[in-house]
Amino acid sequence: MSIKPVLRFAPSPTGLLHVGNARTALYNALYARREGGTFILRYDDTDTARSTEAFADAIAEDVDWLGIRPDRVEHQSRRLPRYDAAVERLKAQGRLYPAYETEEELETRRLSRRRRGLPPIYDRAALKLTEADRARLEAEGRRPHWRFRLDGRQVVWTDMVRGEQGVDTATLSDPVLVREDGSYLYTLTSVVDDIEMGVTHVVRGEDHVTNTGVQIEIIEALGAKPPAFGHHNLLILPSGEGLSKRLGHLSLRALREAGEEALAVASLAVLTGTSLAVEPVADLDALAARIDFAKISRAPARFDPAELSALTAATLHHLPFATVADRLAALGVGGGEAFWLAVRGNLARLPDAAVWWRVVEGPLAPVVAAKDREFLADAAALLPEESWDGEVYARWMAAVKPASGRSGRALFHPLRLALTGAESGPELKALLPLIGRARALARLRGEPG
Ligand code: GLU
Repeated sequence: MSIKPVLRFAPSPTGLLHVGNARTALYNALYARREGGTFILRYDDTDTARSTEAFADAIAEDVDWLGIRPDRVEHQSRRLPRYDAAVERLKAQGRLYPAYETEEELETRRLSRRRRGLPPIYDRAALKLTEADRARLEAEGRRPHWRFRLDGRQVVWTDMVRGEQGVDTATLSDPVLVREDGSYLYTLTSVVDDIEMGVTHVVRGEDHVTNTGVQIEIIEALGAKPPAFGHHNLLILPSGEGLSKRLGHLSLRALREAGEEALAVASLAVLTGTSLAVEPVADLDALAARIDFAKISRAPARFDPAELSALTAATLHHLPFATVADRLAALGVGGGEAFWLAVRGNLARLPDAAVWWRVVEGPLAPVVAAKDREFLADAAALLPEESWDGEVYARWMAAVKPASGRSGRALFHPLRLALTGAESGPELKALLPLIGRARALARLRGEPG
């Protein structure tokens, strides 16, 4: 029996999600969805100084906008007793030790190690402290932070993206897991939760590769088996600069406000920087079907906003009516499926549909050139009686062409200008039945309608 996968996205609510965060969220959520597993949204919010409710709410909104529906939502700040228990366990094994250095003292030591040609890692001086030393430091008012004593070995795993990976933990500082104020770092809390929640796959950015070496040691110290890890390449700005949550680069909120389609953002976030072609997809299931961790590139990948705009348009051109019906209604757009199918191929952004709806509904000032006035009046006289179906335009043209002797642009262009007030747009064949006979007649006669 195979176990159903459990995956999670663990953002810290310290800023707005950007497309790079969306990439991580989607790899996890869509893989879980495709494999019939569970997806957890877990707020990594133990850093109370930087985490805010408002950012947590914004993350929930952005995740929802992308179309991700978590099976479970957790807040680490509400799970502290579990971390307390893990800390006690690590202390009992001698794997967590108190250290008292201030940031300045650590900096001085790093500098001196560099001068001596040594790697600037923590020298473990705190391991040599006696009970008496500790009592004296605490009497001075110092509070300890707690470090995890690394094994100092080659930690290896088979990465879902990068293949065989190794981290030599002898080259790293023992990580701080508990701060002076007693708060926990995510290095610990992620591990405790991943174990307890039965997380089977951790997919995250390649900036976490070293962390994974450390966290595998912590997982094993807590008596658990590590999950599968995958580290995807990072998205960068077209300028080459890395994305920053703090600086608000390419935030999902800004892209949404700019009218980009969530499905286009999701597709580009997932497919950029892979060997897969970037193409519009019909829905998230279709995108999920394309995910293949082995096809993710190793180099950072540029996320191009111009490419996103083109993909938003291409995505709209294929969207079924049912997918957009609610959003069209919210824009005050009527006309049902017939209207949507008539205009979707002409949209760059969804709100453009409202522009075409106004063209259909009127009132509209028709554009009628003096030289075409007579032609248009004759064409008006030939407009078929109602009721109209999808073939009315063809029947009308079958009459107008021989009567006017016009064809091609000389025939269609004045009709388009009169009926829609615009140089170009959706096919008249599809628009005419929506405009209806009364409005069409008025417009052909040069009257607002
Ligand atoms: N909050 C961490 C981050 O966003 C979580 C890392 C992880 O997935 O374990 O980088």
